[in-house]
Amino acid sequence: MILKIRHIFLIGIIATVISCAKNEEEVIYIDSEIKPYFDRFAAEGEERGVTVDFIAARIEGYIEDVDETNILGQCERNSIDPDRLIMDKAYWISASDMDREFLVFHELGHCFLNRTHLDTSDSNGNCTSMMHSGTSGCQNRYNTNTRETYLDELFEN
Ligand SMILES: [Zn+2]
Repeated sequence: MILKIRHIFLIGIIATVISCAKNEEEVIYIDSEIKPYFDRFAAEGEERGVTVDFIAARIEGYIEDVDETNILGQCERNSIDPDRLIMDKAYWISASDMDREFLVFHELGHCFLNRTHLDTSDSNGNCTSMMHSGTSGCQNRYNTNTRETYLDELFEN
């Protein structure tokens, strides 16, 4: 399967004129279907010494129709409002548990860990990072057997 995952960096307006961007009563929305994957990400991070707090980091999770074809998920960054992780509804419905986890973790790699794409591959052509772009040609091997290795790479880089 070819994954084309894009993340949009919305630089937003430089916040110099905004003195109070943070509202104490701000509610961070995370879709109830995405929440279990956010929780898993937090648990995997904790195991690796990474403290994960989506409220403090201000990262939301939505399932929406993404109009652009081949976009399965994206992370919209915003300097003022919370970042928005958006899963394409059509893909989400059809995706397996492992596919969903991969996609959510990949996007949180952008949104939460501030990672960019890494398209390195091993001698067999397998992607060495789950932060691959989906367009480089390396083979995504994220599954229950490789998961731990990919998660180590995700959190420890
Ligand atoms: Zn990406």
